[in-house]
Order: sequence, then structure tokens, then C-alpha cells
Amino acid sequence: MRFLKKYLGAIAMWAIFETVAVALWITLENPFYLLNFTYIGTCLAVGIGLYAAEFKYARNVVQFAVGLYMLVYLGGISGENMQIEGFWYYLFLGVFEAAVIHYVVAKIFGPLVFGRGWCGYACWTVMILDLLPFQTPEQPRRKRLGVLRYVFFVLSLLFVGTLFVLHVGQLERIMFWSFWIGNALYYLVGIALAFAFRDNRAFCKYICPVTVFLKPMSYFALFRIKIDEKKCISCGRCRKVCPMEVDMMSNARSRENGTECILCLKCVKSCPTRALKL
Ligand code: SF4
Ligand code: SF4
Repeated sequence: MRFLKKYLGAIAMWAIFETVAVALWITLENPFYLLNFTYIGTCLAVGIGLYAAEFKYARNVVQFAVGLYMLVYLGGISGENMQIEGFWYYLFLGVFEAAVIHYVVAKIFGPLVFGRGWCGYACWTVMILDLLPFQTPEQPRRKRLGVLRYVFFVLSLLFVGTLFVLHVGQLERIMFWSFWIGNALYYLVGIALAFAFRDNRAFCKYICPVTVFLKPMSYFALFRIKIDEKKCISCGRCRKVCPMEVDMMSNARSRENGTECILCLKCVKSCPTRALKL
């Protein structure tokens, strides 16, 4: 019974993904979705299980297991552009597959349940950035730079829209290479910003165009960090370890940087009185 209680989160996560896997497999009559979502759900469940077992690198294990699968297998071997331009591309083609399903599940409607869990456990850009030395920001946030995410969001849409309007040929080949060039640029810019701002997650805070979807949807997230004010002794440890500068001392949905939480649970672990929970 105690075992079940300890690993209930892992079992629940696996069950949610398995439901999606079976539903998409039957609806779209494609066994790929069964394998794809079973794999991702299993990785997440193992990660949650490792976290429950207090393994220090549980989140990194999940990041690499899911991130590398998407980057190397889906992007490289299967040739599907899983970046935002791939989402626009398949959307314009009217194909409800690949990047469109990925975006719908992980980045548009999924955040209504698990917020920005994608950013904490699956993104292949930050699986590398999270290894850099600046786990928590060492400089104040540059709020105005957040406008850049909208600029890159519009540019990605314009890029793909222009290809369609001009009837450019060999679109699949262009999308394949744009996936790799885009990823290389993301890593370069992400690493440069991390060192310039002394913040591993600077890329997420200012540049990533996917946050244009993630932020408003995660405002309504079912799973979020909550505080029991009666237990809090105002020691401030939780704020010190948060990589996203979330004001987890408030339970309001409008709390400062509330839509930035990546569910890393560092604040929960650091709290000496167990005042925080998911
Ligand atoms: S430390 Fe807590 S509030 Fe900050 S991102 Fe991680 S889970 Fe969210
Ligand atoms: S770490 Fe826990 S006790 Fe300390 S301020 Fe945060 S919620 Fe309160």
C-alpha cells in the first residue's frame, strides 16, 4: 500500500499518456501513436518514480530520454520537423499528424493540465542548457526582452507562410534542413544568453517562440505549485532555488511569473516545513 502511495503519481502519468496513445491509435488508425505516446508516458512515469525515490538527476534523465527521442528519432531519422515552423508547415498542409499533434498535446492543450511540464521534462533545447553552471539567475530579469518571443513567433509563421505563397518547391527538404539549422541556432543563442545573463533559462524567458502558446494556457493549469501559508516560516529558501523566479509564496494564478513555472519541484524539495506541494 505504501509502495502504491509513493508511486501513485508515476502510475497516474503513465495511465494518462496510455489513454492518449490508445485514443490516437484507434482514431487515426496508426500504431505509431501507440508507440510514441507509450514511450513518452513511460519515460515521464519512470522520471516521476525516480523523483519519488529521491534520485537527484531524475528530471535530467527524463529530459534526455524524451528530448533525444524527439530530436534524433523524430527529427533526424523520421525527417519530421518538430519545431514551431514544422507545426505551421503541417497545419498549412492540413495534415493532423507529426508536429501538429505534438503541439496540440504538449504545448497547446496539455498545459491546461500540466502547465509548462514540457519545458521542465521534455524540451531538447533545455536538456543541454540545464547542464550549464547558472541553475538560478544571478542577474535581475530583463522584462522588456520578453517581447522577442513574439518577434520569433511571427517570423516563424512568416517564413513558412512565404514558402507556401511563393509555391516554393522541395518543401519537405527545406523543412528538414530548417529543423537542423533552427536547432543549431537555438543551442548557440541559448548558450550565449546563459553566459551573458548568467542564467541557464534565459532562452526560455526571452527568446523561445513556443512560450507564446505555453504561457497563456499554463495560466489555467490544473497541476501547479501551491503553498500552505500556515506551514510557511518565511525562510525564503524556495525563492532562492527557483530557476524561473516564480512567486510561489502566493497561490493566485496571477502571481509573479506564475506562467513560467516548469514544475521542476526544486522549491518543494528545498522547503524545510513541507509548506509547498504540487
Ligand atoms: S522551483 Fe518551484 S516554482 Fe520554480 S519553476 Fe521549479 S517548481 Fe516552479
Ligand atoms: S521554503 Fe517553505 S517555509 Fe521557506 S519560505 Fe518557502 S514555503 Fe515558506
